[in-house]
Amino acid sequence: MRTIDGSYGEGGGQILRTALSLSVYFGAPFRITNIRPRRSPPGLRPQHLAAVRAAAEISDAEVVGASVGSHELTFSPRRSAFGDFTFSIGTAGSTTLVLQTLLPALFTAPGPSTVLIEGGTHNPKAPTYEFLARAFLPLVERMGPKIRAELLRPGFYPRGGGRLRVEIVPARSLAPLRLENRGELRRLSVDVQLAKLPRYIGEREIAVLEKTLPVTPDAVRLRFVDDSLSPGNVVSIQCDFEHVTEVFTAVGERGVPAEKVANEAAQALRRYWHSGAVVGEHLADQLLVPLALAGSGSFVTSQPTAHTLTNIEVIRHFIDADIRCARIGDTERWLVTVGARNA
Ligand code: ATP
Repeated sequence: MRTIDGSYGEGGGQILRTALSLSVYFGAPFRITNIRPRRSPPGLRPQHLAAVRAAAEISDAEVVGASVGSHELTFSPRRSAFGDFTFSIGTAGSTTLVLQTLLPALFTAPGPSTVLIEGGTHNPKAPTYEFLARAFLPLVERMGPKIRAELLRPGFYPRGGGRLRVEIVPARSLAPLRLENRGELRRLSVDVQLAKLPRYIGEREIAVLEKTLPVTPDAVRLRFVDDSLSPGNVVSIQCDFEHVTEVFTAVGERGVPAEKVANEAAQALRRYWHSGAVVGEHLADQLLVPLALAGSGSFVTSQPTAHTLTNIEVIRHFIDADIRCARIGDTERWLVTVGARNA
């Protein structure tokens, strides 16, 4: 059985999630040791455990070591996954990260699936619903599967309770994806969401964004999403280019001024903009699994992050993939190419 060292590189939860995705996809068991050793607290947290349980349910896996604080886990899937599933994370842990763990196995499954996940839908340091629905999933759809995502209710820290529902109509196989040019910018838009919070917070965020970004008032939206259990605030900046859509988000936190939240999203956009990258740093690490499964693909991104480099190593435990990252001249852009030799 393959053994993955969870302390490698970034040493975070993504190592486990990528291993789960590929294990379910290939029906290939694995053992992971040293799970999140440098995080505080280390080992499995409830949100990681939620991904393990969900992956185990869709693949009827035998699992050893699935408990909070565990440093080691063995996962042995027993069937190909598809069907209708409902999962509750039980905390405000990220629903999108659990979904991304399950999705690869459902892309080319023998039948369609629906997945409903309850938990957080807008978490700091994780894909927000808007990023998932407008940036990540449309790129996956270009590879073949049809995916419809719906935010039934937003979920914020601390109570969570958000509901994300996704329908997946699988493809026979995944087509390669090439993202080497942005093309022209067609639209730059801002979406500010407030849940159980006063309007002035959103207005202060919009004031910052209108002052610092070339955004016209008709492309700015302030929304109230008051059906969440906890208060919440999300700033999303969406860039629709001819060949790619990128979304940069910041999630408001108690005690953090509205201006700082708006600036966090704006700075992420500016970094991307000036780098000339086609896919931003987060899309880059998240596209690697679909591309490796397709067996071929490429994208231009900014300097590969620890998440990206670590994910490449985890993928290599399951796929004999030729994945390369090469800087383009002396620019801030890197070409990532995927060409699998054998699956
Ligand atoms: P840890 O073990 O460090 O607690 P974790 O399990 O919560 O981590 P990571 O391993 O850090 O998660 O992976 C987080 C994932 O979320 C990565 O794929 C990263 O690209 C993605 N991500 C983080 N921030 C954003 C963002 N603003 N937009 C989109 N995706 C994001």
